[in-house]
Amino acid sequence: MSTPIYNRVALIGLGLIASSMFWAMKRGGLVGTVTGYARSEDTRNTARDIGLCDEIYDTASEAVKDADLVVLCVPVGVMGAVAAEIAPALKEGATITDVGSVKREVIDAVGPHLPGNVHFIPGHPLAGTEHSGPRSGFAELFDNRFTLLVPVEGSDPKATATLRALWEGMGAKVEEMDPDHHDLVLAVTSHAPHLIAYTMVGVADDLRRVTDSEVIKYSAAGFRDFTRIAASDPTMWRDVFLNNKDATLEILGRFTEELFALQRAIRTGDGDHLYDYFTRTRAIRRGIIEAGQDTDAPDFGRSKVKT
Ligand code: NAP
Repeated sequence: MSTPIYNRVALIGLGLIASSMFWAMKRGGLVGTVTGYARSEDTRNTARDIGLCDEIYDTASEAVKDADLVVLCVPVGVMGAVAAEIAPALKEGATITDVGSVKREVIDAVGPHLPGNVHFIPGHPLAGTEHSGPRSGFAELFDNRFTLLVPVEGSDPKATATLRALWEGMGAKVEEMDPDHHDLVLAVTSHAPHLIAYTMVGVADDLRRVTDSEVIKYSAAGFRDFTRIAASDPTMWRDVFLNNKDATLEILGRFTEELFALQRAIRTGDGDHLYDYFTRTRAIRRGIIEAGQDTDAPDFGRSKVKT
């Protein structure tokens, strides 16, 4: 192996993202030893069974000891508590990052606990699936997907460059972004769409005139995609909405206005309005395909990667 980017990496939380990072780091031969910690004994035992991480510890503090990079891979709502727990055990000069789907609240929750002699560089890989837990990860998850790094004031550019090299080694395209802008962009591209999917599946469930078996049997591609998204981890998504309140509410407000306008067009038979609207939205889909972020091929099951 050539010189590792980090000699010792600690993954705190061993779910989809941490396990995918582990397999991606090993695939690329990017790092030395990877240590891991998860809250439940069950998860720690599973990790030991499947060879997820080189060393598994029963406390987060033991896992981060001597680590050059610590990655917080827990739900957004517990990032602050985990940071408080590990802070006294961090090695001087270590880099602390996270993979949380929200940035401003995580920065505010984690930053104050960290000692001045470590580098805090928040991050967010824009890749995932609806699966969770230590068995759900795979090395290709980040290939050709964006990871956004959100350096905070005073972040050392050299430490940021090293973290960037790790993500690039895992297959990701890396960009830097300001935390508030990140939260607004993600509210549009991920958080609000998830809430809409949850709502649509909830509506189908409530509509007792259409039986469950009919919903499953006749489910069309659009609804199937909604059910896939709505199967995402409830803890993760509860925390996303509670911690990206303002941006999500702003986008949902706009969404509601547009929905009313479309509702009105349907009621009044304004076909031109509907046609123009759908023409505009179709162009956005073409843009995503042209940017290489999805393919044109039908994939109604969406077996693996999603944005
Ligand atoms: P996951 O598969 O559900 O795994 C979460 C891990 O966090 C588990 O190991 C869990 O431990 C641990 N954990 C949960 N509550 C904890 C607590 N109170 N204290 C300590 N550890 C705790 O989650 P994930 O999908 O990898 O998501 C992890 C982070 O990545 C989240 O912040 C999420 O916002 C972000 N993210 C997710 C996606 C996605 O699509 N899934 C995409 C990008 C970013 P146990 O197993 O022992 O319960």
